[in-house]
Amino acid sequence: QTVVKGGGKDPYPDWKAGDPVPYAALCATFSKVEMTTKRLEIMAHCSLFLQQVLRLTPGDLLPTILLMVNKLAADYSGIELGIGESLIMKAVGESTGRSLQVIKADQNEIGDLGLVAAKSRLNQPTMFKPKPLTVRGVHAGLMSIATVEGQGSQGRKIAGIKKLLSAADAESVGKGAKGVDITENKGGASEAKFIVRTLEGKLRLGLAEKTALVALAQAVVFHEITTANDGKKVPSTEQLAQGERTLKTVYSELPSYEVIIPMILQHGLGNLQDNCRLQPGVPLKPMLARPTKSITEVLDRFEGKDFTCEYKYDGERAQIHYVAHDAPQSFATDIPSAGKSVKGVANIFSRNSEDLSKKYPDILAKLPTWVKDTTKSFVLDCETVAWDVVEKKLLPFQQLMTRKRKDVKVEDVKVKVCVFAFDLLFLNGEALVKKTFRERREMLNEAFTPVEGEFSFATYKDTNELEEIQAILEESMKAACEGLMVKMLDGPESSYEPSKRSQNWLKVKKDYLAGVGDSLDLVVLGAYFGKGKRTSVYGAFLLACWNPSTEKYETVCNIGTGFSEAILEEFHTKLSEMVIEKAKPFYSHSAGNKDQPDVWFEPQMVWEVKTADLTLSPRYKAAAEEMAGGKGVSLRFPRFIRVRDDKKPDQATSSRMVAEMYRKQDASSKPKGPSVDDDF
Ligand code: ATP
Repeated sequence: QTVVKGGGKDPYPDWKAGDPVPYAALCATFSKVEMTTKRLEIMAHCSLFLQQVLRLTPGDLLPTILLMVNKLAADYSGIELGIGESLIMKAVGESTGRSLQVIKADQNEIGDLGLVAAKSRLNQPTMFKPKPLTVRGVHAGLMSIATVEGQGSQGRKIAGIKKLLSAADAESVGKGAKGVDITENKGGASEAKFIVRTLEGKLRLGLAEKTALVALAQAVVFHEITTANDGKKVPSTEQLAQGERTLKTVYSELPSYEVIIPMILQHGLGNLQDNCRLQPGVPLKPMLARPTKSITEVLDRFEGKDFTCEYKYDGERAQIHYVAHDAPQSFATDIPSAGKSVKGVANIFSRNSEDLSKKYPDILAKLPTWVKDTTKSFVLDCETVAWDVVEKKLLPFQQLMTRKRKDVKVEDVKVKVCVFAFDLLFLNGEALVKKTFRERREMLNEAFTPVEGEFSFATYKDTNELEEIQAILEESMKAACEGLMVKMLDGPESSYEPSKRSQNWLKVKKDYLAGVGDSLDLVVLGAYFGKGKRTSVYGAFLLACWNPSTEKYETVCNIGTGFSEAILEEFHTKLSEMVIEKAKPFYSHSAGNKDQPDVWFEPQMVWEVKTADLTLSPRYKAAAEEMAGGKGVSLRFPRFIRVRDDKKPDQATSSRMVAEMYRKQDASSKPKGPSVDDDF
């Protein structure tokens, strides 16, 4: 737990109670955050600012927090920023009266569009002072930019960006920041700069979402205790820690500020757990597993505990949410402020909380045949797997990938899927996450009826015997599965831990047994033009892992193996739309001339890649900070496996994980590295 002591003076003096939160005040906070790398200081700046919001304009707390975590709405809403560089450059040019050529030249020189925008704004003579931007105004403006659709939407997006930029104050705000040369990234708090970075979908302040969440908890506790005691008392360390625990638990079950913030404001943080619980309709971040290299490693880790070995199905993670039309209100939700009736709904969400209902209408159509009459509401954790209706067996993941992702019509479905259920998180009005896995599994078995080829429970065996585990592992592989998921059965350790890569779920994949431990999910940053047969496409690619502490993509290998000709053509078409002129400032790669790819891309695509082993190389930067001699970890003989559409670039394998995989290669002669906990 992290405790920031003390309240403090209002960080931004020029704003009166009841006034909308000035966007300049948020930017001043961003600027301070940007100037430090110390987590406690970052948290203190955010907490102080949020306390001021709570005291002066609590009604703006929601848009303030959303902009702090660079979101417009909860992930499942599908409303996202991440506007392409070329569109933003156009808008910056048009709103500041500079030609696109000049903007591009600046971008080439400075490399950060936020700073280019700030510079352009500063050089622009203004006839009159624009009306100051407010946090709620910026949020609303961004929202309309992100949601415009249909004909002419590009033009309307540009118009929306121009509107925000022309109202932005380019000058540094906040004491001490004045005079900072904004072309250098030294914390000049220009509104234009932060608007552009927000539009790009990357604020790059070093402000992780969990830090903002803790800052929010601290601010609320401070605000509640000081106002209850007329400012004469400040909260104790334990009160702050308790507030943090409460908010983290609630957010992990119900990751929606839209629901949580109004509840905090209305009923206080202390009552949040009574008012906000997991509810069908709001997807939670799934629990994840840790890789292991052998069955003996599993036995060592779970020694003396009862555990179960389930097939690890090779399909797509799905979270199915359901509330029957005739469910009693208490079975659906106890949150009236959710603002919508959540009865009569069925949704399927991805690993990323993306709504997959339009991809799987066939599952939703069949759902009533496997849901028992007494099951009125649930949240189910499962894997959808391609199913061969003739042979009645599982098909490999590649088959599933051939399905369309959107607007699928039941009658057109060619690749059938079967749902393999492995956990139940909510049933008939009750959240089950705190129950043991043994209890949850029993309830799962009770609540549904298997239907061959449509709905099945994950195959499992509860055993601690090495030979039996070996046998089920082999069986799972014969059944076209990836290996096993080994899970704790009893005690608090077997509870469902949303969003955690947990010690209590271990994965044993067949590939690990002789290899390095796991495949990696890497971001495509650049490409090299093909030679010989591959002249019309990209022949090789530069890949990177993600470092959440520095918010940089660190290069890890070039890859040219594992691609069919058809897929190279497809990648060429897709990636050509993501080409940018220059590496982004948050790409960490060797500066050597011969190491540069022919083209750079927006960081968007994530690929799963296998490797023979890992080595150190001066050419790459992965985990270089942790390695001796500043060399990065790199993959030897990398091979492309598949596209990971269900992962965002900042969910790629982390640098810490890469470092751990490198160290673990020779675990027998080297001490084990620190444990990895890269997920929220
Ligand atoms: P990968 O899928 O490449 O292993 P990941 O990061 O997506 O990596 P992990 O947590 O490492 O996910 O592995 C768990 C994944 O395995 C789940 O996300 C789920 O999609 C899948 N899976 C298949 N069968 C099971 C099962 N019985 N229990 C839990 N997860 C399962």
